[in-house]
Amino acid sequence: MIQDLEYLVKLQEIDLKVREQELAKEQYPKAVADLEKRIDGARETSVATSERLARLASEVTTADEQVAKLRESLAKSQERLNSIQTNKEYDAVHKEIEAQKALLTSAEGRKTTLESDIEKGKAALEEAEKAYENAKAELQPQIDDLQAKIGKIDSVIAEIMAERAKISPMVSHPTMRTYDSIRKKKKSGRAVSMVNQEKTCGVCFMILQPQLCSEIRRGTKIILCESCGSMLIWDETAGS
Ligand SMILES: [Zn+2]
Repeated sequence: MIQDLEYLVKLQEIDLKVREQELAKEQYPKAVADLEKRIDGARETSVATSERLARLASEVTTADEQVAKLRESLAKSQERLNSIQTNKEYDAVHKEIEAQKALLTSAEGRKTTLESDIEKGKAALEEAEKAYENAKAELQPQIDDLQAKIGKIDSVIAEIMAERAKISPMVSHPTMRTYDSIRKKKKSGRAVSMVNQEKTCGVCFMILQPQLCSEIRRGTKIILCESCGSMLIWDETAGS
């Protein structure tokens, strides 16, 4: 194989590494934001549950006061029964007592419901707090790891670029031009296609004619895949 192509294979490896870092630079901050959002979501659920519990506690206090007031007025009405003179008066107070009893039953029922809601709310709060703690314990290390990686990306890229600067002068200008123009067109950034015993294009897997394969193997000129336009290079590591 002409040396040009050998260096080109190395260059492709380097460029794919740079590309990987650049993609990470784009994607990691979003990944961090997503993880932070999950932690925030768990915290918000916990806060909302705790607020709901506080509301229920205040409602139960109100219901308690209501029950006390109703009991008091009921007792007063019952006391009045003792000093009643006429049947008419008796009927009126008796009716009043019935109405007060109904109100009391309903207030007590409401209080019972609220107390049971509070018990459920307490269990829900405990669960929400646990979920928040778990989310932090699970996701925060991932966030820290990503942030450490984000912090290093530029220096990693600089290191790879230094390596690239050593290799790129080894590739002739025409080969480099072909490589760059193909690379720019490829979404994957992969311009070089390694061909081995399988005799297919390493990028698009089109089957290559035996004669073409022999030419690729000789490596005396640049051959492009008819299907995907990649530069076909024989994979020396694949053996003969
Ligand atoms: Zn191809």
